Amino acid sequence: MSDLRELYQQVIIDHSRNPRNYKELEHPSHSAEGYNPLCGDQITVYLLVEGDRVTEVSFKGSGCAISKASASLMTAAVKGKSVSEAEELFERFRAMVTSEHDAEVDEEALGKLTVLSGVREFPVRVKCATLAWHTLHSALEGKGESVTTE
Ligand code: ZN
Repeated sequence: MSDLRELYQQVIIDHSRNPRNYKELEHPSHSAEGYNPLCGDQITVYLLVEGDRVTEVSFKGSGCAISKASASLMTAAVKGKSVSEAEELFERFRAMVTSEHDAEVDEEALGKLTVLSGVREFPVRVKCATLAWHTLHSALEGKGESVTTE
């Protein structure tokens, strides 16, 4: 378990230092801003939805390692998915990080996102981890409003 934990830690560090899809989209169909005042994490999520599919997804922002790694992992997980699949992942991810610390994690459904399961032991960090997902959700709903974790 400690080996697994270390591996998870490495993936998180890698994604926070070298975030994937870290850019502004030139012609996004959707975007939203998110803010986690508890930690000071700020993020903007950009989406290009064509038909029912998220063909491009990117983000920019500043914040702690967890918020950045989570946003990076979110973009990698959601790219190419249908809108309803992306929403389903959001629900699954939120359920994972808010579950009991010894609850089983559906690794098959969550894939790489599993590396963030450890945050459920740190309630303060849960908002850092979910910020990108709440912002994604807001962007998909197309309300163009900024979200806050508070
Ligand atoms: Zn944070």
